[in-house]
Amino acid sequence: MADVWTLSEYSEHGMKDVSLELLGRGRALADSLGVSLAAVVLGHGIEESALQSLIEHGADVVYVADDPCLADFTCESYANVLVPLIKEHKPQVMIAAATTTGRTLMPYVAVQVHAGLTADCTELAIEPGTGNLLQTRPAIGGNIMATIKSPDHRPQMATIRPRSTKKPMRDGSRVGTIVHIPPSPSWKNACVEVLGLRSLEGQNASIEEAEIVVSGGKGLKKRDNFTLVEDLAKALGGEVGASRDAVDRGWAAYPHQVGLSGKTVSPRLYVAVGISGAIQHLAGIKTAKCIVAINHDEHANILDLADFALVGDLFTILPEIQKRLEAR
Ligand code: FAD
Repeated sequence: MADVWTLSEYSEHGMKDVSLELLGRGRALADSLGVSLAAVVLGHGIEESALQSLIEHGADVVYVADDPCLADFTCESYANVLVPLIKEHKPQVMIAAATTTGRTLMPYVAVQVHAGLTADCTELAIEPGTGNLLQTRPAIGGNIMATIKSPDHRPQMATIRPRSTKKPMRDGSRVGTIVHIPPSPSWKNACVEVLGLRSLEGQNASIEEAEIVVSGGKGLKKRDNFTLVEDLAKALGGEVGASRDAVDRGWAAYPHQVGLSGKTVSPRLYVAVGISGAIQHLAGIKTAKCIVAINHDEHANILDLADFALVGDLFTILPEIQKRLEAR
């Protein structure tokens, strides 16, 4: 029986990178506990090579639920698969990525299996001697790192920030077991039927997984100027983020909001343009690897966290950067 489980996310483009990152985390936990590691994957038309890649990245067992009713993520259908599976196999630990899917599904499942859940962790470890999962996450607006335990509940459940760790190396010689779960009528969501999916322009941002995020704030002054941020993001091959102030003003859609009441990001490069660095904004960028702030106020809070600061007028600095990027 596998005692540490990870929730893998599969899309029409294949297994998501974040699923492989999770396996790195899961492998370390399973090794500390001396148990095996399982990946659970739900979807439709899941390719065998994608399942094999989970094994090659660290899973000992892969549980697959493949059915037309699981083609699109709905919380209830996915929980209808996961909850009975957890009750049957009783894993000690279950982790998922803190993506839209993980953040929606895991609390729903945790309630049904009477477990706790620590959301948005940046570190996980096993406490020697007890086997308790030490779940570390920023708290109080990112000012402290809190380590949380749930000693009385199994499974111990947590979501983990995407890009908070590296993908493990692929090892083509690894062997494992793929278990196809027989489809059940109970999987079908009785309340919601997905008739089709349509992306809304600007709403499909996946900034949590982006390597580069360029965010704009109130310093941009008006919507038309926000294109400066969008153009820089495009030139750098990154995604567009925004402060809550920029989102409230309608310059960017909510899925782009970075911070306490938006998304947490862990990119290789985070560029904050015309953002003051309120504590609620900083809470979402603490795990960014390199922060560049562009601000004309040398006392702005964001400069305390930034690795590099360009102090000056963003309306002069951004066109200059753009010009240099285009000249390369
Ligand atoms: P401002 O604070 O007004 O900063 C604008 C910056 O632009 C200033 O530093 C200024 O110096 C600079 N600037 C202006 N003109 C120029 C120029 N020409 N060139 C260069 N620099 C210039 N905020 C978030 O971002 N994310 C959240 O998730 C979030 N959640 C919140 C949750 C709660 C419960 C609360 C109470 C607040 C939350 N906030 C959040 C709001 C937060 O407190 C701030 O109000 C917000 O982050 C400010 O946005 P800003 O930095 O764009 O604007």
